[in-house]
Amino acid sequence: MTAQHCSRCGSRMVPAIIAERQREQCPACGFISYRNPAPVAMAVIEHEGKLVLIRRRDAPLAGYWAPPAGYVEIGESVAGAAIREAREESGLEIVLDELAGVYSQADVEVLIVAYRAHAVGGSLVAGDDASEAALFACGQLPQQPPVAAGTATDAWLQQVILDLTAPWRQAEAVT
Ligand SMILES: [Zn+2]
Repeated sequence: MTAQHCSRCGSRMVPAIIAERQREQCPACGFISYRNPAPVAMAVIEHEGKLVLIRRRDAPLAGYWAPPAGYVEIGESVAGAAIREAREESGLEIVLDELAGVYSQADVEVLIVAYRAHAVGGSLVAGDDASEAALFACGQLPQQPPVAAGTATDAWLQQVILDLTAPWRQAEAVT
């Protein structure tokens, strides 16, 4: 995260304490680099009475099952990103039902906005950065080992997924 170049004039940025925080500043033009968590949209999708999960191809939590999610891009809303990621990773067209939660942690560089949603079209097929896509009945979600040697983001993301899928891990069906 150091030795960046100024996005305004191209000079080498240098560390600086500004407003009591460690930041980087351009010695030539004074530009200050503010670092902010990147927003990620996630869709917890019900389809045919089951939960849609994709198997993540990339870190964090590569190889783990998780709801479709991805970075919000300029030019779309957070809700729009959730719908797009669901389409790209699971093949399903979805409608968002409600905000499920907003998750952030001081030592993690993303911020997750999660929605509950249901499928209204498309067909289940893994795509983009998902290696598999599948439906899981309530009480039959895949058992996933705790993150042993991952980063803070891995452990945090696993906890977010556990929290969001908690209603689906109970024995009785949720209505
Ligand atoms: Zn500069």
